[in-house]
Amino acid sequence: GSFGYRDVGAGEKQPLVNAVFDKVARRYDMMNDLMSGGLHRVWKDAMVTWLNPPRRPGYEVLDVAGGTGDIAFRIVDASNRQAHATVLDINGEMLAVGRERAAKRDLGDKVDFVEANAEQLPFADDSFDAYTIAFGIRNVPSIQRALEEAFRVLKPGGRFLCLEFSEVDMPLLDRAYEFWSFRAIPRIGQAVAGDGEPYRYLVESIRKFPNQRDFAAMISAAGFGRVTWRDYTGGIAALHSGWKL
Ligand code: SAM
Repeated sequence: GSFGYRDVGAGEKQPLVNAVFDKVARRYDMMNDLMSGGLHRVWKDAMVTWLNPPRRPGYEVLDVAGGTGDIAFRIVDASNRQAHATVLDINGEMLAVGRERAAKRDLGDKVDFVEANAEQLPFADDSFDAYTIAFGIRNVPSIQRALEEAFRVLKPGGRFLCLEFSEVDMPLLDRAYEFWSFRAIPRIGQAVAGDGEPYRYLVESIRKFPNQRDFAAMISAAGFGRVTWRDYTGGIAALHSGWKL
């Protein structure tokens, strides 16, 4: 099937994204490993290290576009199972996989799952100590709206962290990366999942996402202070940080 990603307007984007993740949910974790060569694990670990969740009860984390729970599980583990995480995702299929994984890890009481849209969070103002989003914000039709919602639900002093594919700034790596993402990834998708289209969409959405500096400006515009970022693997991924001051 064709997802027609080239001409998607804002209003059509979400149904397209939902169709992609409906298709890949059951194979999502395996495909992540295949397509990033396991690197997504290193980046996610680095994200949780930068967050450094306290080892005390009462720390509330909201992991948006949390999918199958990778970030939430890492945060709860890093806090010595003291923190509580809410995984929010617009896709019920991804959340269903996440719920099963949480049960297997015996994290049922430490992690909740909520089906909702990042653009309209079903939480009161000033609710969370940290807001995390990994490889999710580029899928949201209005990124600025999602950032404003992040700011709203964080407590004063709360932390915003966003891990996302970004602009590669290394002469040879950028070529290799381009080849890998535009040629190899859709083929792996075709071979393993039987459909290359969803992966073509994912790669295209990476190309359209703002670079490190422009994205930092958007985070600041949403109200966050002390906005900084770190590049991983030459900028293939970047981790942005901000504070609700
Ligand atoms: N955070 C997980 C990870 O790093 O493995 C999952 C990332 S996955 C590439 C992107 C997720 O964003 C999908 O689960 C998708 O359903 C979710 N998503 C897309 N649009 C969304 C929206 N508007 N609000 C909330 N989640 C959304």
